[in-house]
Amino acid sequence: MKRKFSLSIKANIFISIFALTLVLIIALWSLQVFFFDVIYKTSKKNDIERATTLISSNLEGSVLDYNGTAKLSSFAKQISLEYELCVKIYNCSQGYTELTSTDCTDDACFLHKLNDRALLLSWLTSATNEDTFTNVIEKGDFDSYILNGFSGDASDTLVSVTTASDDSGTLYLIVLSSVAEPAQALVSVFRAMLGFVSLFLVITAVVISLVLASRISKPIVSMSRDAKRLAQADYEVEFVEKGPKEITELAKTLNYTAGELGKLDSMQKELIANISHDLRTPLTMISGYAEMMRDIPSENTPENLQIIIDETSRLTSLVNDMLSVSRLQAGTQKMDIRRVNLTNAVFQTVERYARFKEHNDFVINFEYDDTVFIMADEIRLLQVIYNLINNAINYTGVDRTVTVKQTIENDIVRISVCDTGDGIKEEDLPLIWDRYYKVDKIHRRAVVGTGLGLSIVKNILLAHGSRFGVSSELKKGSIFWFEFKIVE
Ligand code: ADP
Repeated sequence: MKRKFSLSIKANIFISIFALTLVLIIALWSLQVFFFDVIYKTSKKNDIERATTLISSNLEGSVLDYNGTAKLSSFAKQISLEYELCVKIYNCSQGYTELTSTDCTDDACFLHKLNDRALLLSWLTSATNEDTFTNVIEKGDFDSYILNGFSGDASDTLVSVTTASDDSGTLYLIVLSSVAEPAQALVSVFRAMLGFVSLFLVITAVVISLVLASRISKPIVSMSRDAKRLAQADYEVEFVEKGPKEITELAKTLNYTAGELGKLDSMQKELIANISHDLRTPLTMISGYAEMMRDIPSENTPENLQIIIDETSRLTSLVNDMLSVSRLQAGTQKMDIRRVNLTNAVFQTVERYARFKEHNDFVINFEYDDTVFIMADEIRLLQVIYNLINNAINYTGVDRTVTVKQTIENDIVRISVCDTGDGIKEEDLPLIWDRYYKVDKIHRRAVVGTGLGLSIVKNILLAHGSRFGVSSELKKGSIFWFEFKIVE
């Protein structure tokens, strides 16, 4: 068979985390390369618009005298410092008298080099029509607005223009400008930071993947070693329940499996011992009696022959039980579901038992009010009733009484088989339905069967979808019951 190449968990985790880190770093760098300018421009645009609104609302409604102009100038300066931009306010009523301008030492400042009255007039018209507008003036277009050119490096510039009137009705044109490109120094700082973050991400990814890989792979490696021991039938193996939740749960399940396999193994060993004992006893009897009858002609009596017949049928029922349970569990036997007279089936079984066990002084009562029909596989149903009554007879108390009751509630019929025996310990109750389980570990052929009876009952009732159960009180007895839906 061709072996598929597969990576270890460690390698898988390492590769996945590394790939994630790589994607993050690529995303960060593409953000820097492709979107930094756009983000910077958008944030600058928001700033300049906010500053414009602040200045125009400060101007509106106020009467500006000489002091007022001074106040406006200091307010504009404060805003310009706060938002890193330049402000010019013109009194339009006096033919664009420059009222206030913030100090600007930048040789490349578009606003402070601007000497274009036609442009101011067009801005005034646009601002009067549109209230406020913001434009990006690209550095390539500067020459068309500015006469003397720049001595420094030009940058794309954001210009925000608005108009405002004071109480006396004087109209002002407020123009703000701000560089729309990030300064080279800022770009370099940002790149250096990105470089640092990338390095940090790589180191973190390595550390996290190493820690994670060892946390996950260590318990799995030890679990796989223990599982190999389990596969070699070492049921004492203990899986370490430590590590991430799923692994702890897997370890718990494997511990449970090991426990169950161990139990099954010892039950099977016990069963083989019991069965060989059970098979050997009748076989010894049969061969002993047959030899005796061959050697001593006077022993050739019907009684001795009956013993041989009885022992043969004991062997047959033992083998049948074993076959039944394995077929039921493998699901190879098909069910033949028909309308069955349940009351009659129970009655017949009880009758047969009462007759058969007569010489043992057993009292088997059947209490019922009505005759009910159910849908079931009759042969299997009889097996259930037979096994429950048989157990009750085997385990009932000194009064040798077994009571079978049929009760009806709405459209459900319940058959209960009650005995007066020692009862079953609470911790054994869920286990008695298991294959080969026997409460009494000491094998007593006369009383106890193969440990398969209740497993047969359980499998048949499960196949019918019936409810069933047992309640038991120590020293008082047990009640085994099952339910079926009544049909017309
Ligand atoms: P067995 O052939 O040993 O009776 P079963 O599967 O019928 O096997 O029963 C499993 C175990 O359940 C029995 O070994 C016995 O310990 C217990 N058990 C079953 N029926 C009764 C009962 N009526 N009273 C007490 N114990 C019971």
